[in-house]
Amino acid sequence: GQQQRICILGSTGSIGVSTLDVISRNPDVSVYALTAHHNHQLMLTQCLAFSPRYAVMADEATAAELTRNLKLHGGTTEVLFGPQALCDVASSTDVTVVMAAIVGAAGLAPTLAAVEASKKILLANKEALVMSGQLFIEKVKQHKAVLLPIDSEHNAIFQALPFNEQTPCYEQTLSQLGVSKILLTGSGGPFLERALSTLPDVTVQEAVAHPNWSMGQKISVDSATMMNKGLEFIEAKWMFNCQASDIEVIIHPQSIIHSMVQYRDGSVIAQMGNPDMRTPIAHALAFPKRIDAGVEPLDFSSLAQFSFCKPDYARYPNLQLAISACDIGQAATTIVNAANEIAVAAFLTGTIRFTDIYRINYETLNQIKLDEPTSLEQIIAIDAEARRVAEQLIKQGAN
Ligand code: NDP
Ligand code: MG
Repeated sequence: GQQQRICILGSTGSIGVSTLDVISRNPDVSVYALTAHHNHQLMLTQCLAFSPRYAVMADEATAAELTRNLKLHGGTTEVLFGPQALCDVASSTDVTVVMAAIVGAAGLAPTLAAVEASKKILLANKEALVMSGQLFIEKVKQHKAVLLPIDSEHNAIFQALPFNEQTPCYEQTLSQLGVSKILLTGSGGPFLERALSTLPDVTVQEAVAHPNWSMGQKISVDSATMMNKGLEFIEAKWMFNCQASDIEVIIHPQSIIHSMVQYRDGSVIAQMGNPDMRTPIAHALAFPKRIDAGVEPLDFSSLAQFSFCKPDYARYPNLQLAISACDIGQAATTIVNAANEIAVAAFLTGTIRFTDIYRINYETLNQIKLDEPTSLEQIIAIDAEARRVAEQLIKQGAN
């Protein structure tokens, strides 16, 4: 097949590392650019192993450190830094595919740059789609970019829908495809069974210890609050061109089914596999072909249980908040996403309690006037305002 040249935004993160693992098993993908924030040690190792043309770091000092170490080890990678460099490598004419795996709103600009350059985009950075939804999808259509979902649920839904290269998901409605419902599954995280009254005392260590998946810190906390499923609900609405009423969240603690599609005739198609992000990464990278991912196949005879239940909103108020925000509109989803990033960061540094995350998110949404954004500038302004309000609420709580 044709050689793919990839730019991995966020190569030193959990998704980035899994992506490079899949690439190391598939020599017809070459690495053009890798980007990180401050982790220059891991970036050095990745540059020496994959010899990308460019590496991008957050700032001049980190870039200089990486350049120095590369010289010492005979590396040939050129080091760039700053937000514009992220956009430059993501939209370079030498790149055919971009893995968008920066965490949070910081991933939006470079991902949009890749969209505008008509790339094939493997989207892990759900926050980008949550923030800019309509605008993002419109740009994908306008520039004929190809959008493939990496988030395991969305990748599962994509696999269970009758798509091929000619019919991307966002161009047909679910009813045209005979779909009656998207069943978005989630494990319920580490606190599915924990006594509700003890949730305020949850430690950071407990919150990031996901029972089935190994992931970055932010998304691990989001999984514990189920805000992650809320963000995925919004992500699914945009990715699959549907309404909130078309999507139902179902708890499936074993994380073997990664989501399902229910058809008009009663058929339900599920995608299954061991919980390992290398499966959706390999699927999207090779689509419509199949490549090795290094993932252990499922052993059905050793699965002790396969269970399902409805999410309890008293346990997961953030899930309900995100779903209501999805009904309200884009200003609301941008606010909830931004507040949540601030609140989770404050929880991770021990500034607020686990249950304060919801309080901050809820109060931030209530304090900001909901004017629907019509441009990227407006979306970024709403995001900034929500961050300011959330920070202020956290400071007030600390006094
Ligand atoms: P990690 O925290 O493990 O990695 C984040 C990556 O982004 C790192 O390379 C980090 O660099 C870089 N980064 C962080 N902040 C910035 C910034 N401000 N500017 C530029 N680069 C930055 O996250 P994950 O890999 O877990 O998640 C990445 C995205 O994928 C998230 O949006 C998440 O929701 C989504 N996702 C993740 C899944 C998973 O299994 N991990 C599953 C489904 C979706 P550095 O290492 O230098 O800090
Ligand atoms: Mg997911």
